Parts: sequence; structure tokens; C-alpha cells
Amino acid sequence: MTSMDSAALTTLSNELLDQFAAIVGEAHVVRDAREMDAYLVELRHLYTGKASLVLRPGSTGEVSQILKLANETGTAIVPQGGNTGLVGGQIPFDGGEELILSLSRMNTIRSIDPEGNTMTVDAGVILEQAQAAADQVGRLFPLSLASEGSCQIGGNLSTNAGGTAMLAYGNARDMVLGLEVVLADGRIWEGLRTLRKDNTGYDLKDLFIGAEGTLGIITGAVLKLFPKPEERATAFAGLKSVENAARFFGLARQAAGSSLTTFELIPRVGIQMVLRHGSQVRHPLSEEYEWYVLIEMTGLEATGVSNTTLENLLEVALEEETLQDAVVASSIAQRNEIWRLRDLMSEVQSLEGGSIKHDVSVPIARIPEFINRANDLMEVMVPGARPVPFGHYGDGNNHYNISQPVEMDKMIFMAQWDPVCAGVHEIVLDLNGSISAEHGIGRMKRESLKKIKSEVELDMMRQIKAVFDPNGILNPGKVL
Ligand SMILES: Cc1cc2nc3c(=O)[nH]c(=O)nc-3n(C[C@H](O)[C@H](O)[C@H](O)COP(=O)(O)OP(=O)(O)OC[C@H]3O[C@@H](n4cnc5c(N)ncnc54)[C@H](O)[C@@H]3O)c2cc1C
Repeated sequence: MTSMDSAALTTLSNELLDQFAAIVGEAHVVRDAREMDAYLVELRHLYTGKASLVLRPGSTGEVSQILKLANETGTAIVPQGGNTGLVGGQIPFDGGEELILSLSRMNTIRSIDPEGNTMTVDAGVILEQAQAAADQVGRLFPLSLASEGSCQIGGNLSTNAGGTAMLAYGNARDMVLGLEVVLADGRIWEGLRTLRKDNTGYDLKDLFIGAEGTLGIITGAVLKLFPKPEERATAFAGLKSVENAARFFGLARQAAGSSLTTFELIPRVGIQMVLRHGSQVRHPLSEEYEWYVLIEMTGLEATGVSNTTLENLLEVALEEETLQDAVVASSIAQRNEIWRLRDLMSEVQSLEGGSIKHDVSVPIARIPEFINRANDLMEVMVPGARPVPFGHYGDGNNHYNISQPVEMDKMIFMAQWDPVCAGVHEIVLDLNGSISAEHGIGRMKRESLKKIKSEVELDMMRQIKAVFDPNGILNPGKVL
């Protein structure tokens, strides 16, 4: 694991800690070690750290005062949203001299404008809460992740999250019109614009989106809303090869165009894990297959067109044996059952021992080649290891995770993380792909970033960081 190596940051005196605490009020400070635990470890226990305090500000003004003091005293600040990030960006290092700034108290939907199709929210609003607020006014906020019950809008924007509807609506960056950001020196950039067109110089908001808290703290955002689909057609299909998934995706795109909202790939081993560990789950097809696809289409009007298009597509694909079997959800309960199989994919892998994770993308047409080459490599590198390549096929995004061989000691398997990742990433780069499709760089991929970006690119990134955070107080040691 990498360490924090920013500018010399101070060891914090009790007096300074009390000054920080006074900004938010003692009731909103976490000092107790046990209470702090939840902020110091991420879900999969891959990253843990220490902090002097957790500060829970209740307003943009308080965030501004915290950063001003931090900048003046060289105090490192780690922004944290829902703590669902998968690359360790929200977790401090082990030194104990960093402060966590949790946005969770800033969770107000500030305003909704259904006519203008915008919604202005605090950064600490939980994604599910934002979706529900849009739904209440007959609109859709389409960002959707399996972690949506915990992750926050600020975290979603700071990681430029993707998710299961990216195919139709783009990633988080595409859903933002304006931002409110507190800069490292405490100044507030009030950029909560609702304009669809605004070519007045550099687009600064795009710098903060995906910056993983290294350039500023996002405190508010104007989000785009979309018309709410009145119908959804969902199916679960079994296939004998990943090449057939590629063919099926081509047919689906042709049949549904932009109405195709989801196309998720799941391998047999993944479904077996879900069935082994998940509650309220069942296999929706009569037989097991090597691969499965969860496909969904939506329509703005309840005309039944989505269902007809989906059924026609399945008929063609079954006839030409691109698919072996398929079921269309005939009720909301059945749709939820199908989605549960996909949503549990991350969780169940942690119950199968060690898991080496990848979040990669390659040009869509090359996904089968990527999976086949990576599987061949794993057979040589870790015989008996169980690749679980799943995810957002329609975005060219694969979570190529590898579960440990059943009999192997977990620590021995996990010790192979670096060589295994290096091997998988080499294949990805050979296919002109990316080593981080949607989770970001954080702590996990900082060293890899140095190897894959050109000196020119790294230099531009370092210069941007130096302009926005000259004293290196914002999430030091992450990304760069
Ligand atoms: C089961 C599961 C499924 C997931 N599925 C997906 C998926 O489909 N697609 C996807 O993209 N991700 C997915 N993720 C990863 C994760 O949910 C996303 O990265 C999410 O956007 C993180 O939001 P968060 O609020 O939890 O942020 P955190 O984990 O708290 O923080 C993430 C990063 O953002 C920074 N940050 C947080 N809030 C702010 C802020 N207000 N201002 C500045 N910086 C900030 C943190 O410092 C950190 O670097 C999944 C995770 C889990 C556990």
C-alpha cells in the first residue's frame, strides 16, 4: 500500500484539534476510537487508516472555515461521503494526523424544478434519496449503482460514478449542470448554474468531477433530471459463450437503440456464488449456463413497445442460438428478483475468501478477447483461481475479479495481488483499454497511474493539483 507523501503536514496539537471541533460544534465531532471505526475502514477491509478527528459540518460555511484553518496550519483533510468507494480514496493513511471531513449531515434537497428538469442538492444527499426526490415530481434521476442506499452525490461526482444505466444516460459527469465547491483555501466557488449551454471559458466543474477530493470539496450540485419512463421490460438470458454475449449486445443495440438502458454480463461462477450466499434468491432459468445477461429496455409511454421489442429480440437470438434460454420478468416482483442477482454480485464474492479486483474497460467489441486472454493468464499464474468477470458489458466495462482457489490460504493468494494486476492490466493496455473504468485511482492504483500515463499527462495533472491545492492538504497521497 502506498503512503501519504504530500508536503510536510503537521502533527496536530490538542489546541488545534479543539479549534477544528469548535467550527462544527462538539456534538458533530467524532473523537471516540470505537465510534470512529466506521470511518476508518472500507467495506471490503482492503484499506484501513487512522485519523485525529472526524468532522461532520452542517453547512458550506462550516466546510469553508475548516479548509481555511487546514490550509493555514498544513492539516490534511480526507473528504468522505458514503464510504462505498472501492479504491481507498476516502480512507486516511496510518499516520493518524489526517482529519476526515464527512459530508453526511449535509443532506438536503435544496430545490427541484420539474419544468427545467433540474434538482439542486447538498453533496451529502444519498443517491437513493435523490432518485426518490426526482420520482416524486414525475422525473428520473438515472444514476444507479448497487451501493445507492449508502453512497452520496458528492462521492458519486468525485468518482464520476458509472453504474447500470450508463449505457443510456452516461456517467455522473453527464448528469451535472453546476457545482458548489469549497477550495483548499476556504473560498467558495458558487457554480450552481442550471444552464444547458454555457461556453464562457474553461469548464471548471469538470475538473472537480472525478478528482476524488484532491482539488476541492464538493458541497452542492445541480443535477439533470430526465423524463420518467412509464414502462420497463427486463429479461435474464443464458448463453454458452462470451462471444455470444457480444453478438447479443449487437442485436440488442440494433433493435432498441437508446431505449436499451442496461446490458450486464454475469458468469456462471458469479450466479453460483449468489445462490450459495444470497437470501431470497433463485435461479430464474431451468438450467445453468456458462454466461448470463441481464437486459433492460425502457419506454417513455406505457404502450407495451418495450416488452414487444424485447420479446422479438429474444426470439431472434434464441432462434439463431445466440441465446440458449431467456425469461422476461412478468411482474415487478420478478424484475426485482432478477436485479437482486446482479446487485449481490459484489457482496457475495467477499464470502468466498480472498478476491483480487479489477475495474477495467476495453473497446466493447474486444471484451471476449480480454476475458479469454485474462482467464488463460490466470490458469498459468494461479492455477485453481476462479475468475468472476462481471459488469457493465454495454459500457465496455468489466469487473475482472478473481476469487481465490478453494483450498488456498487467503493471505498467500492475496500476496499475489500486484503481479496478478500487472498481468491483467498489461492485457487491458494491449487492447487500448483503461485500468480504471469507473472506480477511480484512490490509493489502489496510484502506482499504476505513474506507469500508464505519459510524462506530459502526469505533468499537467500535477500542475493542476499545485494550482488548486498548493499546500497539499486535500486528500494527500490519493490519485497522484
Ligand atoms: C456494492 C457496490 C456496488 C458498486 N457499484 C458501482 C458501480 O456500478 N459503478 C460505480 O461507478 N461505482 C460503484 N461502486 C463504488 C462506489 O459506490 C462509488 O465509487 C460511489 O460513487 C462512491 O460514493 P461515496 O459517497 O460512497 O464516496 P466515498 O467512498 O465516501 O468517497 C469516494 C471518493 O470521493 C471523495 N469524496 C467523497 N465525497 C466528496 C465530496 N463531497 N467532495 C470531494 N470529494 C469527495 C473521497 O475522498 C474519495 O476519494 C460500488 C460500490 C459498492 C460497495
